[in-house]
This record gives sequence, structure tokens and C-alpha cells, in this order.
Amino acid sequence: MSAVLVYFESVGAELTTAQRELITLADAVGEVQVVTGSTTSDAVHALALEGVHTLYTGEGEIHAPDPAVIDLLETAVQETRAHAVLARNTADTTDALARLAVRLDTGLITDGVGLSHDLRITKSVLAGSYTTTARVAEGRPLIATLKPNSTEPHLVPGGAPEIVTLPVTPAAAEDLRVLERTPLEASDRPSLTEARCVVAGGRGLDGDFGPLEELADELGAALGASRAATDAGWIDHAAQIGQTGVTVSPQLYLSAGISGAIQQRAGMQTAQTIVAINKDEDAPVFEIADFGVVGDLFEVVPQMVEELRKR
Ligand code: FAD
Repeated sequence: MSAVLVYFESVGAELTTAQRELITLADAVGEVQVVTGSTTSDAVHALALEGVHTLYTGEGEIHAPDPAVIDLLETAVQETRAHAVLARNTADTTDALARLAVRLDTGLITDGVGLSHDLRITKSVLAGSYTTTARVAEGRPLIATLKPNSTEPHLVPGGAPEIVTLPVTPAAAEDLRVLERTPLEASDRPSLTEARCVVAGGRGLDGDFGPLEELADELGAALGASRAATDAGWIDHAAQIGQTGVTVSPQLYLSAGISGAIQQRAGMQTAQTIVAINKDEDAPVFEIADFGVVGDLFEVVPQMVEELRKR
């Protein structure tokens, strides 16, 4: 069976849901081998639970934007003759995989939401107006990034993976030095891009995210926002969803007080189920919502929280 490489920026004692999804997708098209620049001894246990055959690492910690990430991936492709390299969709992985694709003289497909047995990637394009499939030229390895929530992860337990340390060391590039790494602020909520459920608010909140925070906590959801809300300073810019913010693809997207402008849709239209609350029945968001509530969010959202608490 041909190898499929899955690139993770780091692997710890437990895999994230997004990492498990990627392994599930890869498992359907080949023998899964993981490549990472940063790992711990516990990682072997986590990967064994997912049936990963081999774990490829370098000599020392290798993080983007270190160009050694690309050396690591290229060496792993040569070692395994992999017919596909998959990674989660982030700015760093897209950058690294684009460079890898150039070195391997093949194509890169980004923002995938599905992967078929014949290595075709499903994509949602033009702000979700079309669903397309794309593949790289015949006989060349597929290099692709996939969005979280593209599939339901399932457990394929296997033995402990073999660990292979490739002769790749962190680059000592004089023109590139990482001075400091600042971890994101710890939060009890899931990360916006990986969350299975996202609750997002817009200008209709009039500066008060309180009701939506309560709803997000009841649902175990991440909290997002429209640009109107982030520009007003009601919530951090990192929470902005849309064309110039992050793209989310959760199972459930609940939008409150957001009109549904095309630039907002670009970041959430691939959500599996969209629920919209808006007091204007003609708001464009209702054109894409699976369920809509016409009403004042300050009345509707507390009622939703109350119902959820009864369960
Ligand atoms: P509004 O359009 O003002 O809508 C507020 C909505 O709340 C209305 O529909 C109103 O009926 C409803 N409402 C008000 N009060 C209540 C209430 N009490 N209960 C229920 N409903 C209520 N936008 C993004 O979101 N993300 C982006 O990444 C993004 N990128 C952009 C890039 C460019 C180049 C440009 C030009 C624009 C971009 N925008 C982006 C902005 C976008 O065009 C819209 O202006 C923005 O999405 C509007 O945010 P909103 O829906 O919160 O506000």
C-alpha cells in the first residue's frame, strides 16, 4: 500500500480532533505516516491509538518558518515514496507545503474539505458559491491542506509506530531567527478554526457579547465575530470570521446579529448546519441558513441558554 504523509507542526500526548481527522482521511487513501518537527515521548502512544505506522522527525525541534521544515518533508517523501502529503490548513503549513510542491515539481491544493479515493480534493470556492474538485497532474504526489471538520474522525488502533529520525537539523540561517514564541492565551473554549461548534456575533450585539459567551459555554463552542464587531473593539481581531479573517468549517455555526455580507459568508459558508438569529427577516444571512429565527437576539439567546441548561 502506498504511503501517505501527514504533517503535524507538533505531536503531543493527545492528538487534537483536527489531527485525528487528518489521519482518518489519510487512512482511506494509503498507509499513514506522520512527519513532525516537534514531538514528545508520549506521542508514540497517541499515534498508536490511531494506527499510524511510522513517525518521522528531524534532529532537534524544527518549527515554521524554519526552511528545515521543507527539508524534513522532502526527505520523508524521498524515504517513503509517498503519493500524498496532507496537512491542516494554516498559514505556516500552506507556506511550507507550497515550497515543498515546488521542490517536488507538483501542485498544491489548499483549503480542501474532502478527499476521495482517487486523490481528488473537494473545495468550496468563490465564497461558497461553488463546490469544485481538484487533483494534481497524473503521476505526481498530491500536496494538500485540509480544513478541520472535513470528516468524522474514527479510531483505527494499531501498534506503536516506528520512530525514524531523519538527518535534518534546524537551519542556522543568518537571515532568519525566531526571537520569541508567545503561546496563545489559554482559554477553556476550543480554538476557532478547529471547533465543531462556533457561535458568532455581529453589530447587532451592540457591544455586549455576554449572552453569546453564555451560549458558547453551554454548547462547548468557540466564539467568533463579524468584522463590524472586531472593528468596534468589542472582541479581539483574532475572532474575526470571513474573507479577511479566519475561515471556519464547523458542524454547527450559530450567527447572531450578523447581516450575512458576502465577506462574512466567505469564512463560514462551508459549515454543515447554519443557524441564524436576526431581527430583520430580509437579512441576507437567512439565504444560507438551515434554520433561522427572526427576533431580537437579546430575547432569543437567553431562552436558548435556559433550554440548554434544563438538559
Ligand atoms: P451589519 O451588516 O451592520 O449587520 C448587523 C445585523 O444585526 C443586521 O442584519 C441587523 O438586522 C441585526 N441586528 C441588529 N440588532 C439585532 C438584535 N437585537 N437582534 C438580532 N439581530 C439584530 N466582514 C466580516 O464579517 N468578515 C470579514 O472577513 C470581512 N472582510 C471584509 C473585507 C473587505 C475587503 C470588505 C470591503 C468588507 C469586509 N467585511 C468583512 C465587512 C462586511 O462587508 C460587513 O460590513 C460586515 O460583515 C457586517 O458585519 P455585521 O453583519 O456584524 O453588521
